[in-house]
Formats: sequence, C-alpha cells, structure tokens
Amino acid sequence: MSFLEFKNVEYSYVGGDDELVSALKDISLTVERGEFVALVGCNGSGKSTLARLCNGLIAPDGGEVLVDGKPTTDKSALFDIRKKIGIVFQNPDNQMVTTIVEDDVAFGPENLGLKPDEIRARVDWALKSVGMSEHAKSGPFRLSGGQKQRVAIAGVLAIKPELMILDEATGMLDPNGRREVLEVVKKLNRDENMAVIMITHFMEEAAAADRIIVLNKGSIAADGGKELFNTPEVFEDAGLDLPLYVRLARRLNDIGMDVGCPLTADEFAAAVAAIATEGGKR
Ligand code: ADP
Ligand code: MG
Repeated sequence: MSFLEFKNVEYSYVGGDDELVSALKDISLTVERGEFVALVGCNGSGKSTLARLCNGLIAPDGGEVLVDGKPTTDKSALFDIRKKIGIVFQNPDNQMVTTIVEDDVAFGPENLGLKPDEIRARVDWALKSVGMSEHAKSGPFRLSGGQKQRVAIAGVLAIKPELMILDEATGMLDPNGRREVLEVVKKLNRDENMAVIMITHFMEEAAAADRIIVLNKGSIAADGGKELFNTPEVFEDAGLDLPLYVRLARRLNDIGMDVGCPLTADEFAAAVAAIATEGGKR
C-alpha cells in the first residue's frame, strides 16, 4: 500500500458567478515513504489545490485521496492524517503564531497533547535539524526570510510528519534563503527518510528532486525521474523553463560540444572541465 494515493481525483471551486471552475481533473498518483518529489506547473495549474487535498484541508469532488489507505474524507482518520502530512506555505510571516522562535515550534507538539519533556526534546531536535538552535529565544522580526522559513519547517518537523509538502515555500526568498531551505529539505529527506513534495517554479529546485510531476491546467502532463529533462517539450508545453544548466548544456550540445545533460552547477562545471582537458571535442 502506498503512503499517499490519489485515485481519479476531481476538484472544482465555485467561481465568482457561481459557476464551477475545475482546478484538478482525473488526478491519479502515488507517493511512497522517503520519496523526494518536485511538483511543478505554472500559476493556476492546480498545485496548491493538490497540496490541500493531501491532508484533507479540502475534500475531493470525485475520486479519493488515501493516506496509509485511509480516505481523507474519513473524519475519524483526519487527526492522524494531519500528523502524518505537514504543509509549509509560501509566506513566512503568516506562519508564525507566537513571538519567540521556540514557542512557535512547540505549538504543533503542544496541540498533539504531548508531555512537556517530549515537547522540549522535539523542539530542540527540530531547531537543530534546520540549523536554528542558536535563534531559539529570538523574536521572528530579527530573522531573515530564509531563517523564518526554516523556523516554519521546524514547526512542521516537530510534529514528526512522514511527508512534508512545501508549497512554494521558497517563493518569497532571495537566492541565499532558497539555498538554505533547499539544503535543509534535502538533509531531512536523506537523514530522516521524510518524504517531500516540493512545489516550486524554480526549476533548479525541481532538478534536486528524484521525481518530477508536471501539472498543466489541472492535469498531470508528466511524472518521472530526471530523464524528463531530456524531453523539454513537456516543460515548454506546461509554460515552464528548463533548469539553467540544462539550457546551457543544450546550447553547447547544439554547437557540437558534447556535455551530456548536467542538472546542477557542479555537474555542469565537471562536464565542461572534462571537455576543456580533452582540448574540446568539436
Ligand atoms: P497553483 O497553486 O498551481 O497556482 P491553484 O491550485 O491555486 O493553482 O489554483 C488552481 C485553479 O483553481 C486556478 O484556476 C485558480 O484560479 C482556481 N482557484 C484556486 N483557489 C480558488 C478559490 N479559493 N476560489 C476560486 N477559484 C480558485
Ligand atoms: Mg499555489
């Protein structure tokens, strides 16, 4: 049984003139424990709707969303489902509910009714995991955007979810903040075996995932590994750019310099260096 399963899910909103606006059409997918999935698609493609369906914040109009085999429409399973799937949202300023970092991280575990010792241990662990231990007593106004998002991640982490969804959580951050958050997420996935769905329109972040799901106008246009970047039409049709190094590599390949398909700055540099030491293959 998969950890998360969407079976032919449909979802519509009621629009301004009372007409139904279809946001997701016939979505079927599974996510397993420990997977690192990027969910990409342009504005309005249905990414946030999909995220909110995962932990029962909204219920499907058709089909089913199952977490550990239990439908999100089963009210008796919902508390458990919300413990298993945590969501980090875009705006770091809207996610802090207290004025001290560690109190904020404690908020989730307190609501689970855990004992004080356990709450303390989880808060310390979560702050350490995101590299924010030394800011435990700080007020959020002292923190950068990247640091605030790391606190928001710690808050979700303290609930010990099996899947963390980041809904454009780096969207309001500068490149440094984005890098901080991505590093933290990669580490949690690797060291804690936490599954991750990273919703992003930064294709460099998508390239960090093991699997990429492309949403286009409420439907899944593609779902696969990094080899998807070899079929750029998939991304172009969905209104998305390719990752910078994929684009650069394609240009070099086009002019006869065979650099393959590097996905990161390091891989790109290594491929170019290999050609340079060969004296350039043309
Ligand atoms: P994304 O996160 O990919 O930008 P969303 O899931 O937010 O996409 O939106 C999908 C579609 O649903 C869009 O057409 C959007 O306009 C519509 N939509 C989203 N939220 C609402 C809402 N609260 N009321 C009406 N329509 C909505
Ligand atoms: Mg969205």
